Amino acid sequence: MYDYLIVGAGIYGAVFAREAVKAGKSCLIIDKRNHIGGNIYTEKTEGINVHKYGAHIFHTNDRDVWKYVTDYAEFNRYTNSPVANYKGELYNLPFNMNTFNKMWGVVTPDEARAKIEEQKKTALADLAGVTSDDDDKTAAEKIAAFEPSNLEEQAISLIGTDIYEKLIKGYTGKQWGRACTDLPSFIIKRLPVRFTFDNNYFNALYQGIPVGGYTKLVENIIGDIPVMLGVNYLNERESLKKTLKLNKLSSLPGGDVPPTDHFAGLGIAEKVVFTGPVDEYFDYALGPLGYRSVRFETQVLDTDNYQGNAVVNYTDSETPFTRIIEHKHFEFGKDENGNDIPKTVISREYSAEWIPSSEPYYPVNDAENNALYLKYKEMADREPDVIFGGRLGEYRYYDMDQVIAASLKKAAEELNI
Ligand code: UDP
Repeated sequence: MYDYLIVGAGIYGAVFAREAVKAGKSCLIIDKRNHIGGNIYTEKTEGINVHKYGAHIFHTNDRDVWKYVTDYAEFNRYTNSPVANYKGELYNLPFNMNTFNKMWGVVTPDEARAKIEEQKKTALADLAGVTSDDDDKTAAEKIAAFEPSNLEEQAISLIGTDIYEKLIKGYTGKQWGRACTDLPSFIIKRLPVRFTFDNNYFNALYQGIPVGGYTKLVENIIGDIPVMLGVNYLNERESLKKTLKLNKLSSLPGGDVPPTDHFAGLGIAEKVVFTGPVDEYFDYALGPLGYRSVRFETQVLDTDNYQGNAVVNYTDSETPFTRIIEHKHFEFGKDENGNDIPKTVISREYSAEWIPSSEPYYPVNDAENNALYLKYKEMADREPDVIFGGRLGEYRYYDMDQVIAASLKKAAEELNI
């Protein structure tokens, strides 16, 4: 009997398993896919580590998390600096002095701030309820006190209308399949706004990509912990339930036919760490949660440099894909020995609404879904032998470092370390 059955060989499961084993527990990791790593899985094509489930750039402010990952893999010095392509006009991201200079010709931070303020003033006046009777001071106070209630209002409050129209509206609409007015404002708060000439996408102390790819990182964390691939936990649970009901086995705790939660460990583990979608665990009993999925069109090209950058976002609404990733640039176009790679691999990313047969990538954390999640969370809390974790298990738009921090925290609580 294992102490823990870890469902999902992604970063949450791998870290939890490692911590449990360090604490003297035994674990078995299973995954329905035929590889470890979950959505951070990378695979080598033409000598290039291809991010099979979308680009992942590790970044964190958490020293402990950085220490943790760098104990298991060497990280390179990659800094994410995406470029936005709006109908052939190129802008640096995140929004910084380079973006403002290209957009408006402004040269100093003061000029940039003044331009943004001017745009906000016009756009937010209506929303903030400014009337023609208000003097300048009252109008400014109303605008300053205005609380954005959706992504569009948040974006305009942060950065004004031009940038919203060219760099946010179309991209966000495509990525989420919803108007910016129907999306929560926190999504856009992920992006920094800077009045310096700094194209670093992340406000993070530490950043980089594991040398040799993410699969190696997860492989090193898992080490010698047993892993079974191609095993679908929910199918196994289903067939076990059927078998047990048919045979009326009484050897399991609970006597006659064990209650649902006693099936959790499949009879081979005391407890389960489940990192799949929480709604799927409960057979969508309360209806499905909303997710966005992504489809990738990946090509090997006989050129050494297709777009000159790892990430180019297409921010208009007409281009059907959201971005093109050129994977070799995550490792500076070099192989592990520093040699140039002659070919390139690119992936066009198409965002799509999730349907039950597709892969969930992003939780859609709008009010309706969050409310539904809370109900699933109540059910999850009543499942005594199961820990739900990770982006899908907790229905949260986690970054990789947050997943690791959450897994370490949960492991510490669970294992009393
Ligand atoms: N975003 C945008 N324009 C861009 C890039 C991002 O409007 O060129 C917005 C969009 O709403 C997106 C959010 O910022 O959902 C977060 O972007 P991020 O790059 O963090 O998303 P991820 O890499 O997780 O897909």
